[in-house]
Amino acid sequence: MGLDVNWALDWLKLSAKAMSEHRMELIELDRAIGDSDHGENMDRGFQAVLQKVEETPPETPGAALKAAAMTLMSKVGGAAGPLYGTAYLRAATSLGEAADIDAEALAEALAAARDGVVARGKAELGDKTMIDAWTPAVEAARTAAAGGSDPLGVLEAAAEAAETGAIATDPLVARKGRASYLGERSAGHRDPGAASTALLLRAAAAAAGSSDTGTDAV
Ligand SMILES: [Mg+2]
Repeated sequence: MGLDVNWALDWLKLSAKAMSEHRMELIELDRAIGDSDHGENMDRGFQAVLQKVEETPPETPGAALKAAAMTLMSKVGGAAGPLYGTAYLRAATSLGEAADIDAEALAEALAAARDGVVARGKAELGDKTMIDAWTPAVEAARTAAAGGSDPLGVLEAAAEAAETGAIATDPLVARKGRASYLGERSAGHRDPGAASTALLLRAAAAAAGSSDTGTDAV
């Protein structure tokens, strides 16, 4: 069975919950190698997303993600707003008007989101950015979909890979974003954008019915 608009709305709700619950951890991660605003921005942004979809209930998963994209772009400051906004917008475009999303379409929407982040941020794998969570997530999602997993299996694989990817940013020296100004001193800290990406993908899996709601990405 595919995922419908209720999944997308649950994903946004659980995303807002995760950003609220992990706000302080994200602030601390960004304090270490950035400007401390990531937790606050993401929390505020997803609260605004919830308000938006309550005011104007979307009818398809794509419409829900498009509403999230527009809200994140206008409400979230720093680099994260445009990056996540682009990610959700590309995913929305990839899903189109479909009412029901199968595993393949889901994996391709995640790939479109990742490609949007790459296009916008110009980061590559290993630069210590959210791409280090997105790219392994996309690869795991595609492998799962090609192997016959259902949408839940695709999202669980993506979330797991994103968490591993986020943790793997710890020893890296940042080559993009504000953390790159620190040079070698950026090593030994997890990238906050990779951590929030892992939280958001875990929320996507939880919305699809995953019993694994824990994370070790923050
Ligand atoms: Mg920041």
